[in-house]
Amino acid sequence: MSLFIERGVLPLANIQQKLIALTFDDGPSLYTNQILDILDGYTIKATFFVVGEAVKKYPEIIRRIKKENHVIGNHTWNHPSILEISSVELSDQIVKTNEAIKEVLNEEPILFRAPYGSIDNESFQLIRSLGLTSVLWNVDSLDWSINESSALEKRIKKDTVSDSIILLHDGNQYGSGPRDVTVKSLPQIIDYLIKEGYTFVTIPEFHQHCFKIEKW
Ligand SMILES: [Zn+2]
Repeated sequence: MSLFIERGVLPLANIQQKLIALTFDDGPSLYTNQILDILDGYTIKATFFVVGEAVKKYPEIIRRIKKENHVIGNHTWNHPSILEISSVELSDQIVKTNEAIKEVLNEEPILFRAPYGSIDNESFQLIRSLGLTSVLWNVDSLDWSINESSALEKRIKKDTVSDSIILLHDGNQYGSGPRDVTVKSLPQIIDYLIKEGYTFVTIPEFHQHCFKIEKW
């Protein structure tokens, strides 16, 4: 059995590490560039769950996310609660968003995150039938409702354990408001997680580790 050490393929399966996946929802927006600058400064890769109509508005930011080797997932076309729309509408929301991303990048996401984390078994199956894996989180930063960076840092410090997926927002629409506190707090949050010995991974790398997949 060999471990594959290639670009983008981490030999995580047999290694005990404290993993952390930073995820950013509701973008892209102009705040995304500031977040990408910070991540670039630390050479950390993250996962961005993007909204289709924002992809249409900021294709150049989508290109930058991809170029800098972050992972892009689908977060619907315009951020409805998927429990309140029909299965035909949900399918449209997902397919239209994947097509918008494909138009820019020539490839489609295989990850999906339900707005508000609202998902049931029926929608889960539909998402799966469209070839997407549903991803939620276990640390909710609540950054959309926190106005002080110290409070945001405190919340993340309190809730983060090994192998956590942290939910943050780079989008400033769909209920998220200005993202200044997230941008301001992010370096302190990353500094803390580095100090605590965490290794930063994208969601596919996280899955590789959690499901003990040697290579995907
Ligand atoms: Zn969202």
